[in-house]
Amino acid sequence: MTGAVVHAVSGLAPWASDPARSRGRRHPEAEAPTRTAYQRDRDRVIHSTAFRRLVYKTQVFLNHEGDLFRTRLTHSLEVAQLGRSIARSLRLNEDLVEAIALAHDLGHTPFGHAGQDALHGCLRDLSSPPAIDEGDGWGFEHNLQSLRVVDELEERYPAFDGLNLCFETREGVLKHCSRANALRLEQQEAGGVAWRFVHGGSPSLEAQLCNLADEIAYNAHDIDDGVRSGLLTMDQLAEVELFEHYRQHALRVHPALTGRRLLFEAIRLMLSDQVYDVIDTTRARIAAAGIEDVAGVRAGPTLVAFSEGMRERTQALKTFLLRNLYRHPQVMETTQRARRVVADLFGRYMEMPSEMPDAHGQRQHQARAVADYIAGMTDRFAIREHERLFGAVMFP
Ligand code: MG
Repeated sequence: MTGAVVHAVSGLAPWASDPARSRGRRHPEAEAPTRTAYQRDRDRVIHSTAFRRLVYKTQVFLNHEGDLFRTRLTHSLEVAQLGRSIARSLRLNEDLVEAIALAHDLGHTPFGHAGQDALHGCLRDLSSPPAIDEGDGWGFEHNLQSLRVVDELEERYPAFDGLNLCFETREGVLKHCSRANALRLEQQEAGGVAWRFVHGGSPSLEAQLCNLADEIAYNAHDIDDGVRSGLLTMDQLAEVELFEHYRQHALRVHPALTGRRLLFEAIRLMLSDQVYDVIDTTRARIAAAGIEDVAGVRAGPTLVAFSEGMRERTQALKTFLLRNLYRHPQVMETTQRARRVVADLFGRYMEMPSEMPDAHGQRQHQARAVADYIAGMTDRFAIREHERLFGAVMFP
C-alpha cells in the first residue's frame, strides 16, 4: 500500500471510487506527481505488451477474415468510450472505468471464446493427477487470466512482476471467478480481489459499469460486424424487437435511408437509448438502496443495471445473436479449426517444452506455462506456430 495520495478528484459522487482512498498497490510505490493512481493504471495498461496484442486477437471474426471487423482492441476502446460516457453522467470515476475497460480483455486467448474453451478443455483433462491447481489455479478462465496478466505476466518493471495496478482496477478486471480459483486467490491475498466470489458483495460501481458497457458494446458491434460479414441481414434483424424499434424510428426521421447508413443510424439510436436507460436506472437504484458511500456499494447487490424492460429486450437480442451469428455454420466451422489449433499446440508444448521460448519452457508448472504462452498469442502467431509445428495449413 502506498501512503497518503495527493490527488483528490473533484465532482465525484460520494459513492464513486476516489483515488485518494484507494486500497493501494501490492508493491508500494511513490505517487506520480501529475496523475492520479487510476490515471496511472490506465497508462500502464496502454503501454503493456498484452494491450498491443489485442489488435490481432479475435472478437467474433478471426483477424484475417477482414480488416474492418472488431478486434479485441477496438472492442476494448468501445467499452471504454461507453463506460466513460455513462460514468460522467453518474459522476463516477472515469479514469478507473477507462483503466478497467482497457484491461478487461487482456487475458483473452487467440480465436476468442473458441480458443478459451479449447484451452480450458486441455487443462481440465490434465487436472488429475498431478493436480494443476498446485500453485497456479484450475482450468482456464479469461477473467482470471486478465488478472494474471496485470499481476504477474507483464514484465516491465525492475522491482516486481506485472503492472502493479491499484486494488480497484484489479477488482474490476476480475469480473467473474470460479469458487475454486477464488479460494486459491484468497489464500494468496486474504480479503483481496477474490473475496466477493467467496463471501458475496459487489465490486465498485465503476467495475459494475464496465461489465454492462462490455455487453452494450458487443451487442451493438456484433450486429454491425454480423451484417458486414453477410452472415446477418437487416431482414433477419426485423425479428429483434429492440433493433427493429430503432430501425423504424430512423426511417420515420429519414424515410429515404437505406443500407449501411440505416444500419448505423439504428445502432446509434439503440446505443444512446441503452446508455440513457442505464443512467436513469442506476441513479434510481442508488437512491432506492440508500447508498451513501463505496462501502455501501460493496455490501449490496449490483446497482448498475438496465431497467427491466430494456433488460428483456437486450436479452432477446443476445439470444438472436447467439442463434444466428455466434452459432452460424460459417462461424462454427472457423471455431472448430481454432479449437484444433489450440489443442494441437497445447499437446505439442506439453510433450516438447523446448519448442517454447526458454522463459516459458523452464517454468515449474508446465501446463500453466503452456497455457500462459498460448493465451498470450495473437491469432496469426498461433496459426503460424501451428504451421511450423504441424505443417498443416488450418486457415488457408
Ligand atoms: Mg469484452
